[in-house]
Amino acid sequence: MTTYGLDALAFPEHGLLPVATQDAESGELLMLAWADREAVEATLASGEAHYRSRSRDELWHKGATSGNVQRIEEIRFDCDADALLYRVRPAGPACHTGARSCFYRTLGADPDAPVAADAWGTLQRVVDRRLAELPDDSYVTALHRRGTGYVAQKVVEEAGETVVAALTHDDEGLPEEAADLIFHLTVLLRERGIGLDAVARTLLARHQERGDDGSD
Ligand SMILES: [Zn+2]
Repeated sequence: MTTYGLDALAFPEHGLLPVATQDAESGELLMLAWADREAVEATLASGEAHYRSRSRDELWHKGATSGNVQRIEEIRFDCDADALLYRVRPAGPACHTGARSCFYRTLGADPDAPVAADAWGTLQRVVDRRLAELPDDSYVTALHRRGTGYVAQKVVEEAGETVVAALTHDDEGLPEEAADLIFHLTVLLRERGIGLDAVARTLLARHQERGDDGSD
């Protein structure tokens, strides 16, 4: 791919180009923001994503205060030269809410539809925060202190209880047991450094490969 200079960009009169920011590794769309010439120059010069904050009307170095900077892997621009793509390696969540991506909500006619994806994100964030801060009154802290072997044992236990609830037609208990299972599994995965995102990516990759429901 040919590399171009800043003059290749078609800045409009108001000076702002939309920027889509993507995780260079996973391809996930992290956020959508705006950049003027100054922001693009600062991004190129520093190797970290800069934007133009429209609300504060100032140059915005992403992560300057939160630490969640975005190392630039590559900047692309589109066919009309009026939209930018920052391909980044993020040091943390892109969203001010703590979500990895700002696009963590699903718009749909069915209000129940987005719940699953939201719950995964929330669960992961809470577990990660507890493991980072290890508050004394937290169950995650207690699990962590007892070690990976204990967490693994809890996963097996909860899996057993989930299966029993399913086989005994305990329709009220089943979501409870399944929630316990997924919670403990999330902690176990994190003890091994793996996030639910990695699991989700694996499922989606299977789905894309085979075009089926992602199961084996
Ligand atoms: Zn956001």
